[in-house]
Amino acid sequence: MMNKRAVYILILLFIISLFYTSSATELDFKRLREKLVTKYIIGQGIKNRDVVNSMLTVPREVFVPNKYRSQAYEDKPLPIGYGQTISQPYIVALMTELLEPKKEDKVLEIGTGSGFQAAILAQIVKEVYTVEIIEPLAVQAEERFKKLGYNNIHLKIGDGYFGWEKYAPYDSIIVTAAAEHIPPPLLKQLKRGGRMCIPVGIPYFTQILKLVHKRENGSIVVKDIIPVLFVPLLRNRLNYEN
Ligand code: SAH
Repeated sequence: MMNKRAVYILILLFIISLFYTSSATELDFKRLREKLVTKYIIGQGIKNRDVVNSMLTVPREVFVPNKYRSQAYEDKPLPIGYGQTISQPYIVALMTELLEPKKEDKVLEIGTGSGFQAAILAQIVKEVYTVEIIEPLAVQAEERFKKLGYNNIHLKIGDGYFGWEKYAPYDSIIVTAAAEHIPPPLLKQLKRGGRMCIPVGIPYFTQILKLVHKRENGSIVVKDIIPVLFVPLLRNRLNYEN
């Protein structure tokens, strides 16, 4: 029979080993994150320092379902349930860079999903307003924001086609689901001088990532960036069930 002291020591050793295992995984993720940023973010031409730093900071593994954690630092989209996906890291970085985000900015995101893109923005700008149409995804994202301490992300459940009028106008707008056209309410809620990044095209086919610039005189300039593949912008809550 082991004496009591031996049992205590064994328990203590077990607890210490748990601590070391978890901090080792965190270190592993940090290393993987640095690799991803070097190879696919900087390596594919992202130059904005704030964007690079943000990609080096936000733990993407927290935003993917447990079973995909080991793939969190591959440069690809991953399923997050309800037929939705967390976007590919390079695309997140590219869209963020295209917005030319500034420290004092107020940004609107349509399609919260996992919350990863919102977190990337929240590291850089003052306030992020994000709208998600699928309630359980919104609830999960909110939990992640709380866990990671982001108190400058404000989330609303609703149809993002209509934006979020209450806090408009926005310095920039990012839409992370593919629309068939640029939603007029979003154009209206964009500040003069502001930018909007949005994939436009036919659902489940290739779309074009567009950069919309609202000039100081109110005129609109649209530039095609690259072909992309996003999940569609849903036009009513029931769509995602079928
Ligand atoms: N930005 C996300 C990627 C989300 S995928 C991330 O970083 O993980 C697109 C998201 O848009 C999905 O969560 C989907 O539910 C949401 N969505 C689709 N149509 C929408 C709409 N009309 N309004 C708001 N969100 C919508």
